[in-house]
Amino acid sequence: MNELLKELPKLAKSKHAESSKFFNKLKKRPPKNLDYIMQELHESEFKRTDCLKCANCCKTTGPLFTKADIERISKFFKTKPQKFIEQYLRIDDDNDYVLKEVPCTFLGEDNYCSIYDVRPKACREFPHTDRKKFQQISNLTLKNVAICPAAFNIVEEMKRRLP
Ligand code: SF4
Ligand code: SF4
Repeated sequence: MNELLKELPKLAKSKHAESSKFFNKLKKRPPKNLDYIMQELHESEFKRTDCLKCANCCKTTGPLFTKADIERISKFFKTKPQKFIEQYLRIDDDNDYVLKEVPCTFLGEDNYCSIYDVRPKACREFPHTDRKKFQQISNLTLKNVAICPAAFNIVEEMKRRLP
């Protein structure tokens, strides 16, 4: 897995123009059953992918934290939301709360998340490949394929299935 993660940014870059063209076409004429296809591709890819052997999202990007995330996680730590913010978060250029640093401070050496049950919504949904109207997040996906091997495989499979 480590070798693959090292190669992934280069691999994603080599496919970027082709994938970008694919998504532009998809946005103009999305197939009626796209949500269904994405569900199927997502499920079959994550049956093969073991996130515990990867954790590249937690190591390299980290999520944004919504107000609800901050309240839920603070409660878990039995601390005040403001204290939690001061200790772990900063505001980014888009005015969102994000981690002060990556790898995520809640990621263990064994790749387990120490706040798994209360983790941010963005962590639960990453890499968003099973969301509805997937064509609407193509810019984000084109970035995610350089981080997430599962997202990369899903996009490559999409291109094969929807030529
Ligand atoms: S979601 Fe993607 S980047 Fe994150 S651990 Fe799983 S395979 Fe790796
Ligand atoms: S909160 Fe958990 S799932 Fe989210 S980035 Fe940190 S370690 Fe990963």
